[in-house]
Amino acid sequence: MSSEKLRTLGVAYLNARPLWESLKDDPRVALDLARPSALARALAENEADVGLLPVAAAATIGELRLLRNMAIGARGKVRSVAIVAERPLHELDTIALDLSSRTSVVLGRLLLARRKLTPHLFATDPAQAIASVSGRTGALVIGDAALDVETRFEYRLDLAEDWFEWTGLPFVFAAWFARPDAVDAEHEDIFRVAKQKGLSRVDAIAAEHGARSGLDPASLRAYLTESIRYDLGDEEMVGLERFWTEAANARLLPRTTARFDEPKRSPMRPSLDTILGRAAEGERLSAADGERLLREGSFFELGLAADAVRRRKHPDGVVTYIVDRNVNYTNVCTTSCKFCAFYRPVGHPEGYVLSRDVLGQKLQEVVDAGGVQILLQGGLNPELPIGWYEDLFRWIKKEYGLGLHALSPEEILHLARLEKISVKEVLEKLHAAGLDSVPGGGAEILVDRVRRKIAKMKCTSEEWLGVMRVAHQMGLRSSATMMYGTVDTLEDRIQHLVKIRELQDETSGFTAFFCWDYQFEKGTHLAPGENGTHLYLRTQAVARLMLDNVDHVGASWVTQGPAVGQVALRFGADDFGSVMFEENVVSSAGTTFGINADKIEGRIRQAGFRAVRRNVRYEWLNEPG
Ligand code: SF4
Repeated sequence: MSSEKLRTLGVAYLNARPLWESLKDDPRVALDLARPSALARALAENEADVGLLPVAAAATIGELRLLRNMAIGARGKVRSVAIVAERPLHELDTIALDLSSRTSVVLGRLLLARRKLTPHLFATDPAQAIASVSGRTGALVIGDAALDVETRFEYRLDLAEDWFEWTGLPFVFAAWFARPDAVDAEHEDIFRVAKQKGLSRVDAIAAEHGARSGLDPASLRAYLTESIRYDLGDEEMVGLERFWTEAANARLLPRTTARFDEPKRSPMRPSLDTILGRAAEGERLSAADGERLLREGSFFELGLAADAVRRRKHPDGVVTYIVDRNVNYTNVCTTSCKFCAFYRPVGHPEGYVLSRDVLGQKLQEVVDAGGVQILLQGGLNPELPIGWYEDLFRWIKKEYGLGLHALSPEEILHLARLEKISVKEVLEKLHAAGLDSVPGGGAEILVDRVRRKIAKMKCTSEEWLGVMRVAHQMGLRSSATMMYGTVDTLEDRIQHLVKIRELQDETSGFTAFFCWDYQFEKGTHLAPGENGTHLYLRTQAVARLMLDNVDHVGASWVTQGPAVGQVALRFGADDFGSVMFEENVVSSAGTTFGINADKIEGRIRQAGFRAVRRNVRYEWLNEPG
């Protein structure tokens, strides 16, 4: 055991407390509490060594070590995870999902699928989930919220009880998982002793939680001692394996196996061929699978597997493209991203805001070229209030009738801060003025350690995803992007893809994914990492394999060149992006390739596909040819 404290994360839920409570006082452990999603992120990004992780998140991360004989589970009724409704389950057409436990959501999906029920599922917060219950709408409720409404609704399906009736096995919701090589046998003893101490304090834990929550302490005690089981013995392991297998077969989770030993040395570790075969068949990959493919996968085999996914999703042999124009309305920006050669600080003589005359000329050229939308993005200019954008959007719609793919999450957050209103209010105002969809710019790498190094004033990854979540919930669609090749590692790139995939599970709002490498040039202040065509194609192929729930992948020919764009169509891409009149943010760094619609179609056909124009929702605008 090393002398360093073991970075340990627990969750604040009542049923988890007996497992972590006494770790607070152990000098060998640095204990923090986190939400399950934050806990999973910290383990995946190496900010924690051990976490009390929901078993769905453990499958998503992949190669973790499971600590023996400690878990949160149930053998039969659990009481704290249930679908509640005013009508029987088979009469529901909608179920609101409290997403605070992804494991429970996956279990709920499996149990619904077993009954061949396909209600519409939508994500919301716990209070809203319960408030939604009415008529044919039910809710999946979790934790205190589920205990609180234990007798309120006429119909209630206890998910652990239903699982037991189906399989005859206990259900495991969460367990202690560690990063590879982070723990040894002595560490495991610390957690085992903590569990014994915690279970001896169940009465006090129930009393304290009852005083805080208003729930009956006697009922809470019965919940902790009778409903929840803290063991992870042979029977629980069989239940856990069964859940992971059922979820992988239903393509809800990556295929994984439970391991008490170091996963990298496990004989059950799948080969690269096995992982590629599974991915080509459409199975979900774990983060560990993705990292291995990106690091070790053979170039051509990655391309073949990504191409198999592309063919399965788009069997018609069609590649789409869009006629639009990237208009950078201002280069004035307060954010000073190190990789950006485009921006000018406030007051700089080269700072600009495009006039209506200049904008009008650019928009008319789009209309004349048969274009259908503009991609409108710019710097974070503190002199442009939200009214300026609303006026602009209304004018563009009225005078030119173009679709507005406008303002990345960073710009939307900037407007929310500037106007002191919520992101939702900003999006509602912009949507009312004509906003059609949100571009996925500014994502770079959605790992905060990387973001702090390359663009320390930019929003956090949670904020970027939060804007997209709100936009998707409003019915707006967006693209997802990744700019890699600065200080990010292969592991960071995979975490980025996992975060996109998880939000997509929640909202289905991303239409497509694009990636490109950092373009180092005069005016940027960041040395490039390892980049190049070979890595771009590998990265795009792995993205196609990881993002099983995103329909489209676009070839980034603007930065790579049209010939590489054609090869990218055999590495998972099914879209050739847009006819570019200009692209200021990238071209300021010196890299730009411009080709018109005829040339794009020629390139697509030359690569062996039929070409078709699309709109921002990827609907075809003509017959492929
Ligand atoms: S990348 Fe965008 S936010 Fe960053 S400095 Fe450039 S214009 Fe500003």
